[in-house]
Amino acid sequence: MKAARLPSVEAHGVESLVSRNGRAVLAAIQSRPRCSRADVARATGLSTSAVSALVTRLIAAGLLVELGANPATGGGRPSVSLGLAPRAGSVIGIHLGHADLRVVLTSLDGTLITEQRHVLDVDHEPAASLDRVARSTADLLTNADADLGRVLGLGVAVSAPVVESRQLGSPPMLLDWGGVDIGGILAERTGLPVHLGNDASLGALAEWRLGAGTGFDDVVYVMLGEGVGCGLILGGRLHTGASGMAGELGHLSVVPDGKICRCGARGCLETLVSKRALVSALAHTLGPAATVESLLDLADAGDRGALRLLADAGQVLGTALAGVCTITDPRLVVIGGDLTARPDSSNALLSAAGRALDAALPPVANHDIRIVRARLGARAEALGAALLAASRAGALLAETSEVIAAP
Ligand SMILES: [Zn+2]
Repeated sequence: MKAARLPSVEAHGVESLVSRNGRAVLAAIQSRPRCSRADVARATGLSTSAVSALVTRLIAAGLLVELGANPATGGGRPSVSLGLAPRAGSVIGIHLGHADLRVVLTSLDGTLITEQRHVLDVDHEPAASLDRVARSTADLLTNADADLGRVLGLGVAVSAPVVESRQLGSPPMLLDWGGVDIGGILAERTGLPVHLGNDASLGALAEWRLGAGTGFDDVVYVMLGEGVGCGLILGGRLHTGASGMAGELGHLSVVPDGKICRCGARGCLETLVSKRALVSALAHTLGPAATVESLLDLADAGDRGALRLLADAGQVLGTALAGVCTITDPRLVVIGGDLTARPDSSNALLSAAGRALDAALPPVANHDIRIVRARLGARAEALGAALLAASRAGALLAETSEVIAAP
């Protein structure tokens, strides 16, 4: 997010400028990891002395904290990175998954305060699903005895492309959800600012900020769930693309004469490596009641067929990732979702993916890419939704803070 240049002091009253500048400082800090005072000055157009004075005031008010020294560059003094004070407010993150609904309440740095999970099939009935989301949010806040004045926003992770945190892009993979104003409906029901994001993108955000991708600026995150999602962190930022479609890895065609996918194309990656695809491949041995848990149970017990199935999925995935990695040049690939829920059985998949990726990368590409298992498990997407809401919370935090509104 790029902050607008601010008007000069002469053009406005001092009081409104302090309020406006305070908001701009918070907005600049919340949207950049490891943001220093100099970064704030660059982003806002304010002088470094004005930024220093505002930052001192915001720290004294308990809204900002110093997070530590950034690595020194160019022989200069190391700068100190700033962040919103975690306890200055809280946010809600929601993951509308295919099989369940997860609601988390976190502090502004993504630390989990409490959570709820409900079985929910979002392939049906948007109105009923959103009603459930609103009621779960209210329950969670009541049970947590949360200070409602300090709840600063609600993020929602959905299994569809999202444009500008607001609308579902087209074509939505969620049946019946096309054109449903999720943000508007939930904002009206909860009274909170609502921000939408694609679930794999928000999973990437969470794994990067809180999980296996911490400390890396270029990370590819793959979510192996009902489908195959992919989120990209490039140059220390979440990259969602011009139309919210960046990372639609699951619908990359990998078998020209393969099975028809739910998107209408043939031979998409997710017809081979999604949870759905693997469980159905196991149905002839385990019967129609096969689940991903039964697959992982078998693999954990050393069943050769189950291990083979996971390794084959890893190989197809690794080959498909070669294109992504050649284009984006990441340091790290983080693989999450239900199929990597258990460390032992996910080893078969991850090591096959690593070998296939290395074999398929062209000689000129970076071959020093680590593939690791995600750390946040099934909670990643909801935590990412909370981080999205937190990243937009600065303006509201500033408005509710006396120190900025009244200098
Ligand atoms: Zn497809």
